[in-house]
Amino acid sequence: MNKPLPIVFLLLFCWLLCGVGSIWAGQQKSRYATILYPNGEVLQEFNENLRLNRKLNYAMRKNVVTVADEVLAKLDIIIDKVQIVLDMFPDYYHIRVVLLPDDDDVARVYKEKYGKRVSHIAYYSLSEKTIYVSVDDTNLRVISHEIGHSVVAHYFKVRPPYNIHELMAQFAEKHVTD
Ligand SMILES: [Zn+2]
Repeated sequence: MNKPLPIVFLLLFCWLLCGVGSIWAGQQKSRYATILYPNGEVLQEFNENLRLNRKLNYAMRKNVVTVADEVLAKLDIIIDKVQIVLDMFPDYYHIRVVLLPDDDDVARVYKEKYGKRVSHIAYYSLSEKTIYVSVDDTNLRVISHEIGHSVVAHYFKVRPPYNIHELMAQFAEKHVTD
């Protein structure tokens, strides 16, 4: 028998190394966003619920192959539009979008991080530059609102007061379909 022990350690090491990201079945990246999702069904549902209006849909590339491609293409289009609506074009902009099955999952993640119980269907974490969203509750307005927060956060060197932040996110949400 030739040294089984190092193999065990190697496997353990790999498990530890890969284990950290293992709850995410998928992670893909576009110009503006990296999406993370637990499985293909969640990604599929997000894609179905995130419907672009006709005007935004014109900008859609015709050569999208996978569902992840389509989702990323939509997010890039919405992010471009929100930047135009807000007239804010940050030099470097990139966010993560974490797709969670429903609002209970969003509440759970929020509670783990901030220790508070909330009933958000989505929120943007300023420190992590990450949108957490309930796929169940996803639509163009919800995503545009959170993207609004993210664009504002990237743009200002000094963080605007909370109410002003919120006002700008609401403005983005309202005018994304203009
Ligand atoms: Zn908000």
